[in-house]
Amino acid sequence: MINPQVLQKVQDVVGAPHLLTSQEDRLCYAYDAANLLHVPEAVAFPGSTEEVASLLRLANEYRFPVVPRGAGTGTTGGAVAVQGGLVVVTTRLNRILEIDTDNFLAVVEPGVITGHLKAAAAKEGLYYPPDPSSASFCTIGGNVAENAGGSAAVKYGVTRDYVLGLKVVLPTGQIIDTGVKTAKGVVGYDLTRLLVGSEGTLGIITRIILRLVTQPAARQTLLAGFSDISRATQTVGRILKARLGPCALEFLDRASLECVRDLLPFDIPPQTQALLLLEVDGHPHDVRDRVESMDSFCRGQEAAFVLAAASAPEAEKLWQARKLLSPASFKLKPHKLSEDVVVPISLIPDLVASIEILSRELDLPIMCFGHAGDGNIHVNVMYDQQQDRERQAAGQAVEKIFTVVRELGGTLSGEHGVGLTKSPYIGMELSEAAIALSLRLKKAFDPNNIMNPGKIFSPPAPPPSP
Ligand SMILES: Cc1cc2nc3c(=O)[nH]c(=O)nc-3n(C[C@H](O)[C@H](O)[C@H](O)COP(=O)(O)OP(=O)(O)OC[C@H]3O[C@@H](n4cnc5c(N)ncnc54)[C@H](O)[C@@H]3O)c2cc1C
Repeated sequence: MINPQVLQKVQDVVGAPHLLTSQEDRLCYAYDAANLLHVPEAVAFPGSTEEVASLLRLANEYRFPVVPRGAGTGTTGGAVAVQGGLVVVTTRLNRILEIDTDNFLAVVEPGVITGHLKAAAAKEGLYYPPDPSSASFCTIGGNVAENAGGSAAVKYGVTRDYVLGLKVVLPTGQIIDTGVKTAKGVVGYDLTRLLVGSEGTLGIITRIILRLVTQPAARQTLLAGFSDISRATQTVGRILKARLGPCALEFLDRASLECVRDLLPFDIPPQTQALLLLEVDGHPHDVRDRVESMDSFCRGQEAAFVLAAASAPEAEKLWQARKLLSPASFKLKPHKLSEDVVVPISLIPDLVASIEILSRELDLPIMCFGHAGDGNIHVNVMYDQQQDRERQAAGQAVEKIFTVVRELGGTLSGEHGVGLTKSPYIGMELSEAAIALSLRLKKAFDPNNIMNPGKIFSPPAPPPSP
């Protein structure tokens, strides 16, 4: 509990306009995209690294939990205050401090919207490739904390591959700088890499140095449709093996297609069972050649059709439809359990076939879509919480999905992290020794366990409030 005297001290740090304490205001920060509800005791919006440090020193002195939060678009409950305490939102730390065109890097604060950074880099002819489907509303700080991926990862990698250095306020209130502003650097342990993907459990990131690359001169988007889902999933690995070099290779199963059919710029034949959304980028001549190769390769793999976006707005429409899949999934059922598993690319057909069998066994719609070029499939178990049978079946589905994924040599999460929702399952992937070492690291960073407690390595959270 944060008592009124301590709350006054919190207010003294950030100023009255930047502290929310009313029930209505706190409710707005009680959930993320995982749809769990845990109302924090207060919500603070610090305006500087020093203010963040003062808040964390207070949290240590008076032992209250602190939960970092960007835009709250995380899908695993990482930004919710499962043990109460103070939510610290980064939206005021939202400056792009530098786009260095000589050294190909950007220095940003964590509350910058990812899409804004991408646009600012593009103005200078530079490219920040990580492209989570939420890029137009999530923050860079949240991306770093989750090691976000997205559709461009098949060619360009994930957020981790672009983070050169960080300014971090440790849970004790100490401020450290990690990493470098140079192309290389190996002095000391790689704390940057440890902090990337640490889901707000090891500190609050207040500044980020990011690597940029050259903006590709041209890009072209294609949509290939298949009447047989296994042909589509087999084609993913074959495209990569044929060295066709897509910069995006997304998969949509039939249920996913039905959710966004109206948003697509093309009429899709009714017998279509699966789609591959493909993109190539680079020099215009090279793009033209590779589009032709991709088109004929997909037809050779029995694609029923291959359509090319005729213009940038048409390509944008295709991507909009793909990016709206997550919210559009609620057309199927009012609730979902959303997993983002990864398997070796050659085993995607086995994963998707197993999920189809599971869907029939449990009599629940389970959608598969996502970044197939990385083997990263979003498996969405759709159900109605008010129906006992469906709720129970959905509960069983998650462990069964993870069991299949582990048998295929895969991982429980490619980009969404563990947070609260996957915490009960991490023993399916990590050994006891690895968990024990991780907990010792956590203790070294956060001796009083005030930093986002209850996430990743903790026992299952108490049931969410209705
Ligand atoms: C429609 C939709 C599509 C999505 N598509 C993708 C996708 O393609 N790829 C992908 O990877 N993800 C995707 N996501 C998930 C989500 O957008 C990402 O995880 C994103 O990185 C979260 O950013 P955020 O600002 O919303 O962070 P939040 O949800 O606010 O926080 C996420 C985690 O980061 C921590 N955190 C936030 N800021 C900081 C900070 N400054 N310092 C330390 N810790 C911090 C929080 O404590 C929490 O644990 C999608 C989500 C939605 C709703």
